[in-house]
Amino acid sequence: MTRNQGITNTILELVGETPLVKLHKITKNLQGSYYAKLEAFNPGHSAKDRIALHIVENAEKRGILKKGATIVETTSGNTGFSLAMISIVKGYKCILAVSDKSSQDKIDMLKSMGAEVHVCPANVAPEDPRSYYEVAKAIHKKTPNSVYINQYFNELNIEAHYKTTGPEIWKQSQGKITHLVVASGTGGTISGTGKYLKEQNPNIKVLGVDAVGSVLKKYHETGKLDLNEVKPYKIEGLGKNLIPTATDFNVIDVYEKVSDKEAAFAAREIVKAEGIFPGYTSGAVLQATKQYASLNMFSKDSFVVLIFPDHGSRYMNKIYSDVWMKEQGFIE
Ligand code: PMP
Repeated sequence: MTRNQGITNTILELVGETPLVKLHKITKNLQGSYYAKLEAFNPGHSAKDRIALHIVENAEKRGILKKGATIVETTSGNTGFSLAMISIVKGYKCILAVSDKSSQDKIDMLKSMGAEVHVCPANVAPEDPRSYYEVAKAIHKKTPNSVYINQYFNELNIEAHYKTTGPEIWKQSQGKITHLVVASGTGGTISGTGKYLKEQNPNIKVLGVDAVGSVLKKYHETGKLDLNEVKPYKIEGLGKNLIPTATDFNVIDVYEKVSDKEAAFAAREIVKAEGIFPGYTSGAVLQATKQYASLNMFSKDSFVVLIFPDHGSRYMNKIYSDVWMKEQGFIE
C-alpha cells in the first residue's frame, strides 16, 4: 500500500482503499474462509463516503454544484456525515432530513459537523409529507442553488461501488472471492460491488441481507412490492419500505432476512471474537452469513467476503448499551 506515506492534501483523498481482514474465531465453525471489508476505515467512518464523494464530484463536473451551493439529502445518518465532511472541505452548506430511528449520537455528530438537521418520523409512508424523502424534496425545492443527492434513486450510488469497492475486493482477494455478503439499504453497495465482481467471475454469488420488517427480499422473489411485509424495526440503514432504483435486483442471487435481536448479538460477538468494533448492520451481515451457512451455501473452498459498513462508536446508546438491550427485551 502506498497510502499514508506522504502528505495528504485533504481528508477526502483518504476515501476508499479500506482493508480486508481475515476473520478467525467467529467463523471457525463454518465451512470456508471469511474476510471482512472494514468500511469504518473511510475518513467519515462508513462506506457512504464513497457514494457521497462520487455524487458530489459528478455534480461539480457537470456544473450543477457551484461554490456556496447547498447539498440536501435524506439519510439514515452515515451519508449525512459523509456529505457534511465533504461540504466543509469543499465549501458547501449541508441540509439533512434524518429518520427518527437514527441514534442520537448520529444526529449530534451531524450537527457537530456543521449540518442543518431535520428529524422526521421513520414509520410513515414514503409519500407522506412528514417522511424524510418528502421533507428533503421540499427543502431542495425552496432552497435556491441546491442539489438533492437522492441516494435511493441515484444510479451514481451503484457506480461509486462499481468503480471502487468492487475492484478493491477483487484485487485484495487476488480473484479468489466466491461469495459476497452485503447489507442492502439503498442497494448501492451490493449492486455496484456485486456487478463488478460478477463481471470478473460470473460464478461469484452475491448474497443480500435484508431486515425483518422490510420489503426487499419479497420483492426480489416475486417482483411485487408487498406492504404487508412492512413492520417497525431497529436496525438503521438496512432494508426498506419502498423499492430503491439504486438496487439492481438482477445482480443479487438471494436475500436472507435478519432480526434486530440476532443482529445486535452478532455485532457484540464480532467485538469479543475479533477485536473489531462494528456497527449494527455488520452484525446483521454476520448473522445472515450464519443463516446462509446453515442453508449449506458454503463449502471448504469458499472465500467469503462480508462488507462491514460502519463503526460501532455510532451505536453506543443502542446495541452497545445494556440499558437499550434490556429495553428491547434482548437481555434480562
Ligand atoms: N449499513 C449502514 C450502517 C448504512 O448506513 C447503510 C446505508 N443505508 C447500509 C448498511 C446499506 O448500504 P446501501 O445503502 O449501499 O445498500
